[in-house]
Amino acid sequence: MTTDPQQAGAPGSHFVLEARGAAAGYGDKTILHALDLAIRPGELYALLGANGAGKTTTLSLFLGFVAPAAGQVRVNGVDPAAQPAEARRYLAYIPENVALYEHLTARENVAYLLELAGQRESRAAIGAALGTAGLDAAAHDRRVAGFSKGMRQKVAIALASMRRVPALLLDEPTSGLDPQATAEFNRLLEQLRAQGTGILMVTHDLLSAADVADRIGFLDGGRLREEVGASGAERFDVRALHRRYGGQAA
Ligand code: ATP
Repeated sequence: MTTDPQQAGAPGSHFVLEARGAAAGYGDKTILHALDLAIRPGELYALLGANGAGKTTTLSLFLGFVAPAAGQVRVNGVDPAAQPAEARRYLAYIPENVALYEHLTARENVAYLLELAGQRESRAAIGAALGTAGLDAAAHDRRVAGFSKGMRQKVAIALASMRRVPALLLDEPTSGLDPQATAEFNRLLEQLRAQGTGILMVTHDLLSAADVADRIGFLDGGRLREEVGASGAERFDVRALHRRYGGQAA
């Protein structure tokens, strides 16, 4: 597959992230059972579930760290288990704690990480992306050692937006963020969606998911129990979802 990663969504492909009947586990222990998940360009899907439900394992499938024992997994049409490097060209992954080069500045981190992805951008363009991601100009040329979780996420979002990847994976992005930083982060996701990026966010944060997601999936014991789509002005009936899943997902 030779699709240009700068094009959000492969031509002819409806889904940027797709799992069909995917089973996966570790050793002979099956964790995910017949997972069906499909995310379109510009869509934000929040996957909720209790500790151990299999959320991180789902991300690992798309990253090519875990191969499906059955079924199919595709990133922009590419099988990440068979072609991990190719699949990752179409992906950005923001782990719970963003890893950056501590001795480099925010701007240098983005420049270096873009270069590793084979992309060169001007100093000004990187500054603009950091600014759009909400990082104060004064922080652009500061070493990232000492940056807060929210600031690190902004650097990662700036990088993802410059790579213009079709798919973004987020692992617990709002855990440990205060309400203002959470709201700010959720606004950044809107910008990426506007670029056509399809987003899979795994989270325990039902409120945040209800704020930003088009669909919320509830994973329980490695099985997708239910999917709920946003509708109307209220989008989701958060209280009903909380009553139903609060014990395991919020
Ligand atoms: P959490 O919310 O706690 O991060 P999760 O929903 O992300 O949970 P996973 O991390 O996917 O859940 O774990 C699902 C199950 O797989 C758990 O029982 C866990 O112990 C097991 N598991 C995860 N990683 C491995 C591994 N590398 N080797 C063996 N078992 C693993």
